[in-house]
Amino acid sequence: MRDMEKMKKIRKSFVVGLIFGAMLLLACVAIVNLGSSYSGKQEKPAKYIFLFIGDGMGASHVAVTESWLSYLEGEKGFEQLSFTEFPVLGMAMTYSADRNVTCSSAAGTAISCGEKTNNGMLGINPAGDTLTSIAKILKERGYKIGIMSSVPVNHATPAAFYGHNTSRHDYYGITEEIPASGYEFLAGSGFVDYAGKEGDRLGSEELLESEGYTVCFGNEEYQEAIENGAEHIVLCQKAYKGESAPTYIVQTDPESTIESEDMMKKCLDFLGEDSPFFIMYEQGEIDWAAHANKTMPMIESVQKLDDAVKVAVEFYKRHPKETLIIVTADHETGGVALGAESWKEVNIGWDILDSALVAGHAGDLDEKANKALNDSAYIGWTTHGHTGSPVPVYAIGAGSERFAGRFDNTDIKGKILAE
Ligand SMILES: [Zn+2]
Repeated sequence: MRDMEKMKKIRKSFVVGLIFGAMLLLACVAIVNLGSSYSGKQEKPAKYIFLFIGDGMGASHVAVTESWLSYLEGEKGFEQLSFTEFPVLGMAMTYSADRNVTCSSAAGTAISCGEKTNNGMLGINPAGDTLTSIAKILKERGYKIGIMSSVPVNHATPAAFYGHNTSRHDYYGITEEIPASGYEFLAGSGFVDYAGKEGDRLGSEELLESEGYTVCFGNEEYQEAIENGAEHIVLCQKAYKGESAPTYIVQTDPESTIESEDMMKKCLDFLGEDSPFFIMYEQGEIDWAAHANKTMPMIESVQKLDDAVKVAVEFYKRHPKETLIIVTADHETGGVALGAESWKEVNIGWDILDSALVAGHAGDLDEKANKALNDSAYIGWTTHGHTGSPVPVYAIGAGSERFAGRFDNTDIKGKILAE
């Protein structure tokens, strides 16, 4: 009898213990859940990802452009580009594996592959090992991929998302890598070294079409490709059909040019919304204008970048919980500054630049005249090269909180992948 009571007591305390333990477990699970929902962390990459790279676009390129836009509105500094209104602002360091001041291929590789490499190298590390681009990783996870540039398709920045080469200047070798990427949509002005350095190789159009890509030069060929159900497209400007696109200058026929906004819309239409996607868009001639210290062409190219960003922002408004937009740069070029001479207003300088623009020669001046114009406009340029300044990172949308603060350009890949 006593034994039975003892057994009952043991059983009772066992059941009480079990209930208490279960309650404790539930409480722990609840606390963990509460913790993760409070931290607001998104554990996987956004469904729709836009990465914009203003080549050479430092914080001052943005400031000079906004000052110009404010001047046009008769204001002082209130006009904003779309992306400077993004809620998250970070700063990325840009040095390469072998230099304090990076080049576009090393910086593109750092952003795309998450590893530093030497200046001039592309998609490989200094030891020569092949690196994996974020676009490739996302492609393997079922994302559709769009890689676009305002400059040649095989130039350093777009190439950092599909190419692997000891030299960024092996343009033809870089073009040969496009088919292996399997990316759905590539775009640019055209191809550098269209038929190889000596011009004796198969033209880039024939080369890529023999590997299953449809290469379109201009709107008409693009429409034709869409009607024919093309699944892999390289879209270029009509002006560079059958010939090598120049580096360091964008000279396309204004009548036939597919502008940045239109290029982005075409890419979005092509990729659709059913599958997740990753889009990289580069405005390459910001860097070229800055190398030449040409203020107005630099401003115009920052505005072109903004035109493409605005299309992404409209998309974001329709899918705010599933879209991430990042706008950054690979490095700063020219060391530009918005200046003034003691008591003189910078707007006086803008007046001078404005009249030069009306006269139609602001983008087409020789170096001496260009310097005189910059001097009178109080726009200071400190170099014709790149600088080692960190670059701003603007972000909005799903997972954008990861882009706050100071980090390295090699961290951007992991931040997008939520790793
Ligand atoms: Zn450059």
